[in-house]
Amino acid sequence: MAELKPIGIDVLLRRMFHEYRNEGKIFDLPKDRFFRGNPVLDTSAVFQGRRASTPLGPAAGPHGQMAQNIVLCWLAGARIIELKTIQILDELKIPRPCIDIHNVGYNVEWSQELKLEASLREYVAAAMMIEILKASGLLDGIADFQPAIRNPQSAFRNGETILDMSVGYSLEGISSPGVRRWIESMKDARAVIDELRGCLTGPLAPYRDLDFPATVSDSISLSTFHGCRADEIERICRFLLTELGVHVCVKMNPTLLGRPAVEHLLHDVLGYDEIRLRQEAFDNDLKFDEALDILSRLDAVARGCGRRLAVKFSNTLVVENHGSFFTGPVMYLSGQPLHVITLNLVREFRQRAGGAIPISFSAGVDARNFADMVALDFVPVTTCTDLLRAGGYGRLPGYMARLEARMREVGAVTRAEFLLRHKGAGEQAIRRVVGELREPLAREWGRLSAAQAAAAEQWLSAAHAALLGWWNRGWGRSSSLPADTGKDAYAILNDVLAGMEREFALRVWPAVPPRLGSFWRDRIERLESLLAAQAGLLNTAPIVEQATADPRYRAAENRAAPRKIGSRLRLFDCINCDKCIPVCPNDANFVYQTEPVEAAYSDYRVEGGRLLEMAGGRFKVEKAHQIANYADFCNDCGNCDVYCPEDGGPQVEKPRFFGSLGSYRAAGRQGFFLECAGERRTIYGTLEGRPYRLAVEGDVARFDDGVVEAELRCSDNQVLRWQAKPGVAAEGHVIRLLPFLQLKTLLEAVSDTRRINYVNVKEP
Ligand code: SF4
Ligand code: SF4
Repeated sequence: MAELKPIGIDVLLRRMFHEYRNEGKIFDLPKDRFFRGNPVLDTSAVFQGRRASTPLGPAAGPHGQMAQNIVLCWLAGARIIELKTIQILDELKIPRPCIDIHNVGYNVEWSQELKLEASLREYVAAAMMIEILKASGLLDGIADFQPAIRNPQSAFRNGETILDMSVGYSLEGISSPGVRRWIESMKDARAVIDELRGCLTGPLAPYRDLDFPATVSDSISLSTFHGCRADEIERICRFLLTELGVHVCVKMNPTLLGRPAVEHLLHDVLGYDEIRLRQEAFDNDLKFDEALDILSRLDAVARGCGRRLAVKFSNTLVVENHGSFFTGPVMYLSGQPLHVITLNLVREFRQRAGGAIPISFSAGVDARNFADMVALDFVPVTTCTDLLRAGGYGRLPGYMARLEARMREVGAVTRAEFLLRHKGAGEQAIRRVVGELREPLAREWGRLSAAQAAAAEQWLSAAHAALLGWWNRGWGRSSSLPADTGKDAYAILNDVLAGMEREFALRVWPAVPPRLGSFWRDRIERLESLLAAQAGLLNTAPIVEQATADPRYRAAENRAAPRKIGSRLRLFDCINCDKCIPVCPNDANFVYQTEPVEAAYSDYRVEGGRLLEMAGGRFKVEKAHQIANYADFCNDCGNCDVYCPEDGGPQVEKPRFFGSLGSYRAAGRQGFFLECAGERRTIYGTLEGRPYRLAVEGDVARFDDGVVEAELRCSDNQVLRWQAKPGVAAEGHVIRLLPFLQLKTLLEAVSDTRRINYVNVKEP
């Protein structure tokens, strides 16, 4: 199985700066795809008590695995980043391929493929790289991007970011010393941060003393196995909340909706007749009543210990493997059908549980439905399947662009305003929230003096009027906001809320009994989120109905697969569509430049201690633009193969470069390793099962094919001298020049730092 091998934070940062300066991109994401935020619109949202600049993020999966993946998510607009799930079993053997996004998504992935210690370092490194990016001024539009601190507070306006741990799967594993230690190290990462600071030397030294936050994450999204019992889920959550002191989001399975409802949606409504459900998943998974029971108890536990509880809809749906892409009996469904199933599950949940527990959402999210998911008050709205499609991380800015366009359409400046205005639910949401504020007043009425009651009543009436005034003034206005702040033209919700707060502090708080005052003070502090929550509840039915009826989620609209053109990939040359670059979640595929060449070559036979020239062939590289693969970042997930129009798979047929001689030697199939020492550059390569080595210094190349060592002139490929390797009989051996030419071409092209990659960036 291909193993991921992270590289150091210094190497990643060197590549980042070099690539941005020379090519205007970072980890292959072009700068026009970077999310810089909008000076007029506030898209921020609060998750587990902390504010993030956008409610958007990747779901726990391949995009939250390696440090560069997390940075790519951030650059493209994700601000609540669910990290890939970790668990005590950190030496898993995952079947390959493991991702099938021909259209709707299937996978057989599992948890993090790195060891616990390596995952910790990746996540801490990613958090530090984000701080470095903020401090560098890159997203503030600094054109001449050199390592330097331009913003010492790391206060880039749209940079507030939350990393959310994802942990699985059983109490035994989660409470084991290894996982406990891991979680504690994420909560207080100073030791790892200090270790990684030590790598920030030379040009990176300006960042060494940056004030990196010690807490990389203090919240966990909990993943449990299918079939995990309700009491086990509850015990894990209690343990996390009370003993580890983290906020918890419990991931629910779509099976919660029950087989009849899921089957009806999947087959009768959406038409995915080929997808077969597994009865045991419904039999063994958590039931709705159990879920409601444990969530209400856990919510009380969380409040009691000053932590927060949220619920995530949903995990993928386990189904029978009806295809031939994977070999096992089951696979996990995501994408379009899961979107409709999960939305219906949310509606059921909200009908039964109300809006007290915040919802994080993941299921078939894409740019087209993202704004609707925001309007449902989901925080975060996470995506995975869509980022595995053509364009990869570069699809994320489209999510935010569409949200911003919709905010402008309805004249909303903040996310809460958008929720209230999106489906016109604002007035009703305001009435409900003010009604909730009035409830204790009615209860306490008899115990209040006339003056106390009058002060409270006056304040509540004024607050209601101010909110309705804001709503009625803003509603129906022209669809575009002014370019500066919009504040003069629009009574911004925040101003109204601030006014309410002032009035409360001045006239109500001193006048009413502390219990009542505390109740209102708490509600005032959360008023914006209470309004958003009510609007989210009110928006639920229309948005779920709209999605359920939308043909774009149906099977008939989702049968097309990425096109194959019938040609086969080779070591060099392809149609250069570049689809394999962004669809790789690990940024493992890369472009290098070479000189097109077509030349005849001879082979040489060793006969009687001499070399006899014999017919060889023609070596041909047609294109300057070539594709290679950085094998230490490639886990053979298969996604680039699905999107490559040619057959064979870029991760198999294109030159695979390893990060060390050790990983190259361990691989055993086609692969290369390149090292530089002063003027001498050496490439190790295995071609058609045979290992070779070529060392080049100036115009002289030393070529070792395992039987002989030959010295050749690079400029005309002439053999200058040769000798058999010690202890090897060379008589009759043919020195084939094709591997020599292939190695020479790769050595020269891939080490050329005009196009930076993970291979050539290693050389300082
Ligand atoms: S290079 Fe291809 S197979 Fe390898 S990790 Fe990337 S997408 Fe998956
Ligand atoms: S390897 Fe395939 S996907 Fe990549 S550029 Fe070539 S043809 Fe396109």
